[in-house]
Amino acid sequence: MRTAVVVGAGVAGLAVAGALARGGWQVTLLEAQDRVRADPTALVLWPNGIRALHALGLGGGLEAIATPLRDGGIRRPDGHRLVQPRVATGDRAPVVVHREDLHDALIAGLGDRVEIRTGVRVTRAEPGDRPSVSDGRYTYAADLVVAADGIDSAVRRRVAPESAVVSSGCAAWRAVIPWYRAPELPAEALGGEVLGPGYRFVAASLGDRGASGASTRGGIYWIVTAAGAARPEPPATQLALLRRWLAGWPAPVGELLAATDPGDLLQQDVRELRPLPRSYGFPGGDGGVVLMGDAAHAMPHHLGQGACLAFEDAATLSALVAAARPGEQLRAAVESYSRLRLPRATTVVRQTRRMSAVLRARGRLALRARDAALGAITPRLLGNAASTAADWRPPA
Ligand SMILES: Cc1cc2nc3c(=O)[nH]c(=O)nc-3n(C[C@H](O)[C@H](O)[C@H](O)COP(=O)(O)OP(=O)(O)OC[C@H]3O[C@@H](n4cnc5c(N)ncnc54)[C@H](O)[C@@H]3O)c2cc1C
Repeated sequence: MRTAVVVGAGVAGLAVAGALARGGWQVTLLEAQDRVRADPTALVLWPNGIRALHALGLGGGLEAIATPLRDGGIRRPDGHRLVQPRVATGDRAPVVVHREDLHDALIAGLGDRVEIRTGVRVTRAEPGDRPSVSDGRYTYAADLVVAADGIDSAVRRRVAPESAVVSSGCAAWRAVIPWYRAPELPAEALGGEVLGPGYRFVAASLGDRGASGASTRGGIYWIVTAAGAARPEPPATQLALLRRWLAGWPAPVGELLAATDPGDLLQQDVRELRPLPRSYGFPGGDGGVVLMGDAAHAMPHHLGQGACLAFEDAATLSALVAAARPGEQLRAAVESYSRLRLPRATTVVRQTRRMSAVLRARGRLALRARDAALGAITPRLLGNAASTAADWRPPA
């Protein structure tokens, strides 16, 4: 039987481990943490991510937990509308899911062919004669090693040392306010974003108030991105700062920040890979090593594409190796994976970096220029990003 070791049980690792196992592979999934878990926040899935999940056979699980994302357009802090809301329909409509619900659906997709080992932090990787990884105590060898161990990937450091983790120059705060504490807001107040100098606020509904459907962990999700570094103060002070920075912004910004508890808040420095690895596939032995998800292309979250690309990676790899026998065929599939995924990730990362520049503009002159250009830049950028997201198709 063909064997695979998947390193990391985030969305990328869970998705690919399940897909390989359903394809008849014997899969070992190694996770550094003591259990497999997700942040208690949410994730927007764009059409490409949804299509990839369907290609992976996980579409049914997704439908049970997803809420359509309302597009409320983009406003400036003074309420001026930069981008009108657009109604996306059919397979062009994005959805929002609670990350814990998504993790549950991905875990359900693992079946009983995946051996999960938690508390295993991989520190070494060898693409050589027989691809393997090790935590210093045990060595796990397989035909195929999939590195899905996130932005600080130990496997990537070994096979693609040219790629470094750098700051994206901003920090993010996220929260899900459970429905019982969420303010009553008109439906049109949710969805859409407010974009100010160095700050961005986005909010979305997870399920409906009082309804048992869609998300089992429903509420209102919001995310603030701010130029600069994460704050060292305790969560209550961070929340007070957010309220001060965004004071006077249009509804529902103030209402949602007021309803948030410090315990709901999750803060992080936003980081990315620069440059991207030169390859995502390293043939060796009877197969090789591949990079996927944030291990391959960690990028700022501005276009909400990190997890979507991870699902594309997983769908692409599982399609390419479906009929590949260990040896020449599997090594060729590893090379094809890199050939397909590298240009795709490069395009999306490039679009995301443009959005980073829009967000980071600081100083009076830069801001004046940015504000003058914002109305033109943002719709064009988002239009390009939307078509990039919509156009991806899984390989046959
Ligand atoms: C603020 C923010 C908002 C975002 N919003 C969106 C969005 O709306 N839509 C979207 O598509 N994307 C979004 N993203 C991006 C998305 O969260 C990531 O791209 C995605 O979670 C990456 O998944 P992953 O499985 O590759 O990595 P991770 O989620 O980082 O998982 C890696 C796993 O590997 C484990 N691990 C790490 N090192 C080792 C090791 N050495 N050995 C064993 N195991 C290891 C970790 O414990 C973890 O479980 C956002 C990101 C941020 C920061």
